[in-house]
Amino acid sequence: MSIPLTDRHDRTHRSLRISIVDKCDLRCTYCMPEDQHFLKREELMTREEIVTIARLFVERYGITKIRLTGGEPLVRPDAVDIVRDLVRLPVKLGLTTNALTLHKHLDGLIDVGLRSLNVSLDTFDAERFRKITRRDGYDVVWANIQEAHRRGLRVKLNMVVMRGVNDDELLRFVELTRDHDIHVRFIEFMPFAGNHWGRERVYTYAEMLGHIGSVHSFEKLDDDPHSTAKAYRVPGWKGTFAVISTVTEPFCGTCDRLRLTAEGRMRNCLFA
Ligand code: SAM
Ligand code: SF4
Repeated sequence: MSIPLTDRHDRTHRSLRISIVDKCDLRCTYCMPEDQHFLKREELMTREEIVTIARLFVERYGITKIRLTGGEPLVRPDAVDIVRDLVRLPVKLGLTTNALTLHKHLDGLIDVGLRSLNVSLDTFDAERFRKITRRDGYDVVWANIQEAHRRGLRVKLNMVVMRGVNDDELLRFVELTRDHDIHVRFIEFMPFAGNHWGRERVYTYAEMLGHIGSVHSFEKLDDDPHSTAKAYRVPGWKGTFAVISTVTEPFCGTCDRLRLTAEGRMRNCLFA
């Protein structure tokens, strides 16, 4: 029998995000500075430590969902091996990636049994991609996303919507769901240390729905009780879209996520 992990806000944690590395091969302006300081290799959890902790959380504490993240998880040389180990646990396993090197790992990830991928993409414009991520790579990222979808992975696209930066591309992302069974998630821009956040730069949940609704009618879908995303669909279209309203409608009361940092510290909030 597992012991439920219930905190003092009466939230039972069922979902664990494991950052397997803090390094990244992009430098998204909203996420980290160009000169970000990273951990030394020996400070990161080893593959064995990650797998032992994950197993403990699943078998003893009733965790039912694990997502591997970073930094960029695919910069870790043993990322596919970690997926191979975790896919054996009775848990829903996902991975969040920027897809910059996905072409090198896609066969391996599919072979070991990964079925679901969250990919970050904030624009369909190569020059804008370079400005947002401070690196080149739009063409390879977009090709990799399409290939992952073509190969049958369940793909969710995460777009951080920032006023005056990429809010004019919202409809293009929604329109992707017309013919593709892709799940687009619009994330409100969140404040992190040094990311030049300002409330005026947050393109809000209400604004997103207003903007989309001015062109397409859409219907609300049922959300999982612990989901951070509010899901919608344009009737008859294959995919769905959702909004993660972290700033204007926080969902802290129903959040069931725990986080394990790359050096092995537990956090029960992204902002901790
Ligand atoms: N490198 C991987 C990626 O980009 O998908 C995984 C790690 S990244 C930190 C996880 C998610 O956090 C991405 O979808 C990214 O867009 C989102 N994110 C990072 N900084 C954010 C911010 N300031 N506001 C909202 N979402 C943010
Ligand atoms: Fe790297 Fe992901 Fe952060 Fe962008 S959002 S800098 S890809 S960790």
